[in-house]
Amino acid sequence: MYDQNHLISRLRAASLGHETRNFAVFPARASVTFGELFAGAERNAAALVAMGVQPGDRVAVQVHKTIEAIQLYLGTVMAGGVFLPLNTAYTTAEVAYFLGDATPRVLVCDPERADDLQSVAGDAKVVTLDANGAGSLTDAVVGRGGFEPVARRADDLAAILYTSGTTGRSKGAMLSHENLASNSTMLKEYWQFSDHDVLIHALPIFHTHGLFVATNVALFAGAKVVFLSGFDAGAILDAMPTATALMGVPTFYTRLLAEEQLTRDRAANMRLFISGSAPLLVDTHEQWEARTGHRILERYGMTETNMSTSNPYDGERRAGTVGFPLPGVEARIMTDGAEVPDGDIGVLEVRGANVFQGYWQMPEKTAEELRPDGWFITGDMAKRDADGYITIVGREKDLVITGGFNVYPKEVESLIDDIPGVLESAVIGVPHPDFGEAVVAVVVPSSDALTAEAVAAALATDLAKFKQPKQVILVPELPRNTMGKVQKKALREEHAGLFA
Ligand code: AMP
Repeated sequence: MYDQNHLISRLRAASLGHETRNFAVFPARASVTFGELFAGAERNAAALVAMGVQPGDRVAVQVHKTIEAIQLYLGTVMAGGVFLPLNTAYTTAEVAYFLGDATPRVLVCDPERADDLQSVAGDAKVVTLDANGAGSLTDAVVGRGGFEPVARRADDLAAILYTSGTTGRSKGAMLSHENLASNSTMLKEYWQFSDHDVLIHALPIFHTHGLFVATNVALFAGAKVVFLSGFDAGAILDAMPTATALMGVPTFYTRLLAEEQLTRDRAANMRLFISGSAPLLVDTHEQWEARTGHRILERYGMTETNMSTSNPYDGERRAGTVGFPLPGVEARIMTDGAEVPDGDIGVLEVRGANVFQGYWQMPEKTAEELRPDGWFITGDMAKRDADGYITIVGREKDLVITGGFNVYPKEVESLIDDIPGVLESAVIGVPHPDFGEAVVAVVVPSSDALTAEAVAAALATDLAKFKQPKQVILVPELPRNTMGKVQKKALREEHAGLFA
């Protein structure tokens, strides 16, 4: 029976009658149809239940990106379980923390890591899945039969995703069936995805972007995905002439721009390039348009809220902004308990069916960030222009307070990025004996001729003295995580002793 609360029933309903159509195509293996995808999900669900998974149990997963891992995600949720994907870069010690916190019933990992992880798995049953989709999980799945989704309420959990934890311990964001289903059905409409689409899927599937935005939107649309195991500029360019959409982090776009083969002709069949998870430079936006004729559509979201704002599909996609609140999502920009006037900077709060259920076993943290009336305090500083476009100006915790004055790193970074010979920059605050914090600019040159003095001199006329960097440091590249986010915490740690 069709369960309208159940994420997987809803995803499956979207391709009913089209079971023989391809869902996933790969550069180097046979395609997988919608029918095969969900049949595999049913087998996974049956195998997990046989391993003791009960409704509400967590299934922790640290595996390579494969279609079998997608079937494991669908199967876990089908079985009433809570899917808990982990970044493949996490070490055994890091995974030990997540397992201790989430106490999953089952841990699925790469066979090469099984011995190490067994020692920290506690009561979890450890099974394996490798980069080719083989392992003890696959063996346990083979030969199993049909499975009806276990009944769930709309607010029951479907997934827990740990935040990247740039401050303190990582927190488990609890996402319900309705959180996920409502957001991706809405995005499908907003971005006009249909069964004519072919989405290039090159994002990791342990993160909200690749798992929920890309995968769920494609499934709800009945679209096909070109399923790549990771970012590969050549494979993306090969796929482009017959694809229609790409979802990427900003680094996808800067890396693709470095490829000569990226041309207007190659992108002629594409209808949509989407960017998110980190700020897209205005420069990248402009270069992309010049090279391909397409204006990238930038959107904004986070693990806790799914997608909250987006530039319009029809209408102006304004570079440097994240657009408007999505349908069903309210947004407000606050300081000291009141909304700020247009143009002023404050902390962005959002509310809607997209907002998560709280942090796993952290009621105090939940209470700090999720107000009783449903507003979630994102921790992102933002401003809204007179036309309603929202711009993210950085994380609240990245704000630099120097001599009692607030400096928003984005303001300084934007000016630095405009200096000829600069590729990009990150502005941070580091401890300073007089000022409390000092503004420091870490700059990546695009030309050998650039000097730190030239950067400082270029800023001298445009910026108030207190906003000017006390030091400019040239580096070959900025530290970034897999989602393309600049790791400011790492930069602050590296340069903490500059003025000691
Ligand atoms: P995550 O939970 O890993 O998806 O990270 C969410 C954070 O990424 C947000 O709180 C923002 O700080 C940042 N972020 C996501 N999308 C954008 C964007 N389009 N522009 C600027 N920052 C973004």
